[in-house]
Amino acid sequence: MDLDGDTLLLELINTTPVENGVPTDALQDDDAAAAWTRARGGSGAAEELALVREVRTVLQDVVRGEAQPDRLAGYLRGAAMVPVPQSGKLEWRLEAPPSRELAVRAVLAWYELEESRPGRLRSCGNPECRLFLIDRSHANRAQWCSMAVCGNRMKARRHYERRKRQPQARATG
Ligand SMILES: [Zn+2]
Repeated sequence: MDLDGDTLLLELINTTPVENGVPTDALQDDDAAAAWTRARGGSGAAEELALVREVRTVLQDVVRGEAQPDRLAGYLRGAAMVPVPQSGKLEWRLEAPPSRELAVRAVLAWYELEESRPGRLRSCGNPECRLFLIDRSHANRAQWCSMAVCGNRMKARRHYERRKRQPQARATG
């Protein structure tokens, strides 16, 4: 399965959602993690799982601004883009040690995103949500991982807080 880089990157850093107020990790269990990587072109080998989990944490920290992007450089070790001429066109194929390929693809996707669409990958605006989003809107003002979930929840909360403040404002003013 040839997943595009954006999707792989976003799916990877979104494997630690908060569910019913509890932080979860979709890659914590080895079998679940192996199924996850296999569904994305990986092998499910132990070495691969360890690397995928590790690069996920670094990517999350980098996107949150808590780590320097330099931390990602090491994950590209051993990777090369190989030109493959095909029907008069040139395509580039990634070559990397099998256990490193998924991590390499995720890191390459991050660099590609930062270069072509800087700032578009960001944390969800709901402070209780640990998901990330890629803003593909023209206005570049998307704040929520999902309008249906966090967007509506945060709007409802703001509405509630406004209403809560109003009687007080009348009493003191
Ligand atoms: Zn969210």
